[in-house]
Amino acid sequence: MLSNLAVRDIETLVHPYTNLATHRETGPLVLESGKGVFVTDSNGKEYIEGMAGLWCTSLGYSNQELVDTATEQMKKLPFTHIFGGRSHDPAIELAEKLKEIAPVPISKVFYGASGSDANDTQVKIVWYMNNALGRPQKKKIISRLKGYHGVTVASASLTGLPNNHIDFDLPLPGFLHTSSAHHYRFAEAGESEQDYSSRLAAELEEMILREGPDTVAAFIAEPVMGAGGAITPPEGYFEKINAVLAKYDILFIADEVITGFGRTGNMFGTTTYGMNADTISLAKQITSAYFPLSAVMMNDTVYQALVDQSRKIGTFGHGNTYAGHPVGCAIAIKTLEIYKRDKIVEHVRKVEPTFLRCLTALADHPLVGEARGVGLIGGVELVSNKASKAPFEAKKGVGAKSVLFAQEEGLITRAMGDRVAFCPPLIITEAEIEEMFSRYKRALDKTLNWVKAEGLL
Ligand code: PLP
Repeated sequence: MLSNLAVRDIETLVHPYTNLATHRETGPLVLESGKGVFVTDSNGKEYIEGMAGLWCTSLGYSNQELVDTATEQMKKLPFTHIFGGRSHDPAIELAEKLKEIAPVPISKVFYGASGSDANDTQVKIVWYMNNALGRPQKKKIISRLKGYHGVTVASASLTGLPNNHIDFDLPLPGFLHTSSAHHYRFAEAGESEQDYSSRLAAELEEMILREGPDTVAAFIAEPVMGAGGAITPPEGYFEKINAVLAKYDILFIADEVITGFGRTGNMFGTTTYGMNADTISLAKQITSAYFPLSAVMMNDTVYQALVDQSRKIGTFGHGNTYAGHPVGCAIAIKTLEIYKRDKIVEHVRKVEPTFLRCLTALADHPLVGEARGVGLIGGVELVSNKASKAPFEAKKGVGAKSVLFAQEEGLITRAMGDRVAFCPPLIITEAEIEEMFSRYKRALDKTLNWVKAEGLL
């Protein structure tokens, strides 16, 4: 029996990333409130938010300081833009702070409102910059299969997931996809992580040579693949990728929309994995998700090319109304202050062993082929046969079923096919981590019974 709210939802909303046909029967999970790492639904049932919303509510759900900061800024100046040389204090101060903590030398910051538009900006900057440098043929961008970079036409073209391409007539020409880097799934029998990384770097180099290095402008990667299934890179991967990109003068864009701000046990995933990024996309945890805000941080070479082109043609013709929104910037400044004052990165490192111990213990379960993670992000790979690593048939929806059972157990998590992710708020305690994984273990047991009853093994 659907609640009144659920019926109203079905009558009014088109939900993103939802099976619009089955949603009409199942209805939504309606959340009403949150406190710490917990959220409560419209029936009063409490859940551990094991996905920090969508990889974003790093400081949890009831941070009064962020609420007060937003309120004060709303009272003082709820909006002004930064077009045409206008500016405001929070935008300037946040850019200064981001430059200070950047993991690679950064010259300037460009704001947006979402991870997708940050990556869209990255694409446009790459194209614009190469026009400025007098090499208009150098425009192709390489990303990875299973990489996720957003949903605008350009950022969905970067994304390497079929769901984002099929029937949207994407990717656009000039967007190429190389292999994803998932040792468990794609390494050859007996291939070490280092050898697998070398093979992937060689594959990237072959692609660049095949296309012509003078036509390839940039490579984009997430330090840890999020929507692809919470996949950590194999040993030596980014070191080898760095070398290939440097050899052919190809810009390295780090998509830190998920990994930015402590998630991997360093402030940035770029540091955790030694990525020689030229530009970095940030969003989500920049405001602990209390306000939509994104940022592109760029090095001086990129910035100078933009200035040169402006000198030639005038206005840099890109930006949106809410870029550098004063309320978002004020919240982001406070968020960064809290990360520092409350030693959030140190906290992530302290609880990481508990997170990884509980996560990897799931690999003992008959349905789990692999459990992997770093910091406070990780995932499990559900399989029908542990020895052969055979996946379940995608349409059976085993991952999604385990997420529904987890919901019954009072845990919110997320399935991407048969990969299930864990990405709790960074403030989670060791006891809450233990509780999160014991809830998922019970959900897996229920999933196993269901799988057996359905004859899927
Ligand atoms: N990049 C990465 C790595 C992401 O995980 C996401 C969203 O999950 C995006 C970009 C797109 O961000 P948004 O949904 O804010 O547009």
